Amino acid sequence: MKYLPTPFKKLMGIPCKVSRATLSYFEDEFDLFRRDLEEHFGVAITPEALDQSIRLYNRSRELLEQLYELRKADPPPITGAEVIEVIRAGWIMPREQYNPLLEALLQEVTSKPDRLAGSDSYRLLVYGSELDEPDYLKVIEDLGGMVVADDLCTGSRYFTLPVEEDGNPLRALAIRYLTRPFCARMHPTSERVERLQQLARDFQVEGVIHETIKFCDINVGNYPITKAGLDELGLPSLCLEREYIMAGAGQMKTRVGAFLESLEGRRG
Ligand code: SF4
Repeated sequence: MKYLPTPFKKLMGIPCKVSRATLSYFEDEFDLFRRDLEEHFGVAITPEALDQSIRLYNRSRELLEQLYELRKADPPPITGAEVIEVIRAGWIMPREQYNPLLEALLQEVTSKPDRLAGSDSYRLLVYGSELDEPDYLKVIEDLGGMVVADDLCTGSRYFTLPVEEDGNPLRALAIRYLTRPFCARMHPTSERVERLQQLARDFQVEGVIHETIKFCDINVGNYPITKAGLDELGLPSLCLEREYIMAGAGQMKTRVGAFLESLEGRRG
């Protein structure tokens, strides 16, 4: 494996199972990370500062959760591509600025529940690996799909479950990151299947797209198991692999278009 020579890097060992032993190991990993950061940047990372930061990020999580809830409406007041843009903005701007903007956006979206009225798009759940490219969902939505829910590393799994406040912050971080909704690398997969089934029911989806970025092999390997769980609900699914850039959009359009046509027959 080749790593770029960045001024600071730290690799953390992340357990694949949740137990008392792995939680305590992961808390130690956070502590080593904290010490390495302090040493490299010459700063002090106090429990009080961590607690303050946790509150700030929890507020973002709470607001994003509220935005996601709005998508249960039919039609939702915001598209899946727009939501990805909103989440992405939070990664590149200070949280102190992001949270008030998110509050204002929520107010605006809530005040326009009919913003997408007249849309007869198919309600879709997209799940899989990381996806930070709004254009990817835009291709799907331009063809007549509406992404109303997701289970992506950079989507709902990114903000679901707050970090406990007022405790040991490193312990709280370890608990949150290991017990939040599972990615494909975590065991047991049955928890992931149950979450997908719950999302499909809660957001009344009509079809499911399994998205996987190249080289996230565990996510591809998980597909037969998660698909079987969605089959139990009678939900059709489509598996799409993608590059880091928006290459292969033409082929993707053909496959998504055919998938949406198959949903048309089901609506009767
Ligand atoms: S292993 Fe794959 S599914 Fe898990 S966080 Fe990484 S990209 Fe996402």
